[in-house]
Amino acid sequence: MATIFSKIIAGEIPSYKIAENDKFFAFLDINPMAKGHTLVVPKQETDYIFDLDDQLLGEMAVFAKKVAAGIEAVIPCNRVGVMVLGLEVPHAHIHLIPIRKETDMSLANPRVKLSKEEFEEIAEKIRGKIDLISF
Ligand code: AMP
Repeated sequence: MATIFSKIIAGEIPSYKIAENDKFFAFLDINPMAKGHTLVVPKQETDYIFDLDDQLLGEMAVFAKKVAAGIEAVIPCNRVGVMVLGLEVPHAHIHLIPIRKETDMSLANPRVKLSKEEFEEIAEKIRGKIDLISF
């Protein structure tokens, strides 16, 4: 059965899309640790990120770098934190989380509640800053 992320990539489940190319898809996390919290997912359905082949894993990091630059351009932060868990959804993904301090990456923090309009506004702004071709 397809994972929830494959359904998002296929457009069967809605998402706040940030970026896409032939191999990867990025969208806002629905239960964010911070405004702009984004997930980067390979279109290839593989559970564990380190089961991806070296080439795809490298390309995923480069794709995430471009997305992170877009997040940084929109969300005031000191940097974009990178986290990999994969305990909830069995489809490899990288969390990109804009942070100001170390504790902003704590999983114990309460999640940020955003309205549909706020999600849409953030996604649109970040999308506007990402140039996947000329980066
Ligand atoms: P983990 O697998 O532990 O890295 O966590 C999965 C992440 O996916 C969590 O941060 C969830 O909030 C996020 N998530 C789950 N379902 C969706 C969805 N439909 N749209 C966006 N984010 C989701």
